[in-house]
Amino acid sequence: MQPLPKEYNFSEIERKWQQKWEEMGIHRFDWKDTKNVPFTIDTPPPYPSGELHMGNVLNWTYFDIVARYKRMLGYNVLFPQGWDCHGLGIEIQVEKENKIRKRDVPPDQFRKWCELLVEKYISIMKEGILKLGCSIDWTTEYRTMDPDYWRRTQLSFILLHKKGYMYQGTHPVNWCPHCETAIADAEIDYERREGTLNYIRFPLESGDEYLLIATSRPEFIPACVAVEVNPEDERYKEYIGRKVIVPFTDRKVTIVGDEAVDPDFGTGVVQICTYGDKEDVKTVMRNRLPVITLLTGNGRLTENGGKYADMTINQARKVIVEDLKAADLLEKTEKIMQEVGVCDRCKTHVEILEVKQWFMKTRSLTDSVEKTANEVVWYPDYMKTRLIDWARSLDWDWVISRQRLFATPIPVWYCKNCNEIILASEEWLPIDPKLKNPPIDKCSRCGGREFIPEQDVFDTWMDSSITCAVHAGWPDLEDWRKRFPADVHPSGIDIIRTWAYYLMVRHLALFNETPYKSCLINGMVLGADGRKMSKSLKNYVAAPEVLNKYGSDATRQWAAGGGATGSDIPFRWPDVEYGRRFLVKLWNVSSFASKLLADYNPTKAVEPGLQPLDKWILSKAAKLIRTVTDAMEKCQFNIAIEEIRNFTWHAFCDSYVEAVKDRLYKPETHGEVKKLAAQKTLYEGLYVVLQLLAPITPHLTEEIYKTMYASDKGFESIQTSPWPKPDYVKEDERAELRGDLVVALIAEIRREKAEKRMPLNTPIKKLTIYAGDHSAAEAITESQNDLIGACKVESINVLPEEGIGRDVVQYPHLQFVAEYE
Ligand SMILES: [Zn+2]
Ligand SMILES: [Zn+2]
Repeated sequence: MQPLPKEYNFSEIERKWQQKWEEMGIHRFDWKDTKNVPFTIDTPPPYPSGELHMGNVLNWTYFDIVARYKRMLGYNVLFPQGWDCHGLGIEIQVEKENKIRKRDVPPDQFRKWCELLVEKYISIMKEGILKLGCSIDWTTEYRTMDPDYWRRTQLSFILLHKKGYMYQGTHPVNWCPHCETAIADAEIDYERREGTLNYIRFPLESGDEYLLIATSRPEFIPACVAVEVNPEDERYKEYIGRKVIVPFTDRKVTIVGDEAVDPDFGTGVVQICTYGDKEDVKTVMRNRLPVITLLTGNGRLTENGGKYADMTINQARKVIVEDLKAADLLEKTEKIMQEVGVCDRCKTHVEILEVKQWFMKTRSLTDSVEKTANEVVWYPDYMKTRLIDWARSLDWDWVISRQRLFATPIPVWYCKNCNEIILASEEWLPIDPKLKNPPIDKCSRCGGREFIPEQDVFDTWMDSSITCAVHAGWPDLEDWRKRFPADVHPSGIDIIRTWAYYLMVRHLALFNETPYKSCLINGMVLGADGRKMSKSLKNYVAAPEVLNKYGSDATRQWAAGGGATGSDIPFRWPDVEYGRRFLVKLWNVSSFASKLLADYNPTKAVEPGLQPLDKWILSKAAKLIRTVTDAMEKCQFNIAIEEIRNFTWHAFCDSYVEAVKDRLYKPETHGEVKKLAAQKTLYEGLYVVLQLLAPITPHLTEEIYKTMYASDKGFESIQTSPWPKPDYVKEDERAELRGDLVVALIAEIRREKAEKRMPLNTPIKKLTIYAGDHSAAEAITESQNDLIGACKVESINVLPEEGIGRDVVQYPHLQFVAEYE
């Protein structure tokens, strides 16, 4: 056995193993393996944002622990890595960096800039993931912006179109006027913002009466198509069916009774406009009201806005309020706090526009989503209701088309003559219809020979919601179903409503099967102050800073141990520092062991056998294997790391090693046989710790394994060694109880010396132990040699009775009297 150096140099060790593992290829999935069961991880391809943040560290650590653990259990683990490139975020950043709007440059140029920016961001994030030491199979790396990936997204669209899941419709959609595109419900954030409630007089058609309407969106008056009251509201009952005149128009609209109106909000009378909000959409549909299109795609008023046409929403609001005042129609205004739906990319107030879009029929799948979500295993279990509640809350189908440039093209053309949809054939893919005509002679319906390409592109979730099938090898590998559904889909709590949901509906629609068997949820990373980590709150810590300062193994312990799986986890430097201290402790005890095991031969049998304290620690190690395996099976990483750290630090280092040091150093006193027993126990006990830790702190454990164990154990890497079974060492309840008592006694004696400010190796002339009863006395006598060695006792007397002396913590019937010089 080689000795470990005294100093633990984490950055050198971590860099070395990250390189070597890649050279060894031990993280690669074996596509031809027919012997080992595959275990597939649906790594969510991250959106390249240009920075690895602590949230990324948290979720990559989670799935890397799973990957490494499953490999040690003998699975053929598929841990792929992709990049979800498309989307508004990148376009907005390119516009900002180049100080342009997307339409100012040719589309090809714009796309190129997006690709370059994505590549730059990927390389930054990849560097962080490599530094974290994730056991990814890099031969699987892919980018959703590559035409080869488009092919899969486009194929999934064509298949779903053929199955009747895709349709075009003119339907109200969420629209970001800044990004100038439709967006899905999942892309809306809600913010509390201050608004103004305007009390406006709407004159009744007959007479000089008026109804007072409270609205925070007076700019929508030109699109008012009805006025509503609650039919139970005594104040307004009699007005139902009569008409009011919409200010600044000559339009008369009906007063409608609708139970959805809250009589306590504002005045109890509301205007229905197309569309002020989602409620308006429902009312218009229910009452078959006309639609007046008020907004353009870039957030200005149309000619239906009359004198306000061409103004922005904000300009129009200001001018209308002034006009209302001038016309004496504004009774009063008051400030209110309201919940506003905003674009999750640019925080612009989301509007509702009625436009022609592509949709996927998702609401018809809701029952199936609920049933499947209940069959999937969730870590933790209560997370499944988030998915089910979200699916149940959706009012509209998923709008999958976007009016952007940097995205997968929708593989569709239209016949110029008869407007027939020409759907691409599977063998034409990948294809950009804007660059290529469909390879057909004529329209099958009218014989027309001219085609107009679809200008819209796919929502980026169309790319990333087929990963479970894509990772398995769909559609190219014939046996892809062997790796589908994915064994685990890891997801952040904040993206259950997007990622977990879209994966579910798309795979259910495509293959009528769940995409994943289990879902592993991580919470959010909070700042040290317990608030959400963000740069504006000044509690933000960048991942590279942590990794450079403390290394991956210490940082991974924070991620694993920061809190229960699924809960929000604060980032605190002391947690990482504690992880670091633990690694130093483990390094030191290993370095110590490597010297004392220099002459140890693991194949040599220990005769006549192990000593009581050897059996004690090995039994605890067996129990540890059981608890940690159980925790790993349940993805309770915090329990696993805590149990391992407690065992290592307290039972193994502080109690066992201290108790047997004398046996190891002085075989001339104790005999070679007892030294060999301690060596064997040290050797096996430390090996258990290293193996159990290997998925969580892979670098340090590999370094120690390679130096101390590889030549005997024979595995290429600790990562490819088989996960220890609980019966690897023997559990022995009696030995544990007896050993607990002895180590408590040793600890109490050492504590007394410390309190008396004596060095720990101060000899005790005479030690009298009042064991309380015969069985305790027997337990102490059995381990008397270790006790004498550890406490430097010159003469010992163990009595089976209680007596007057220093009490031993937690053993009320055990006392001792130590006499020093
Ligand atoms: Zn936006
Ligand atoms: Zn045609």
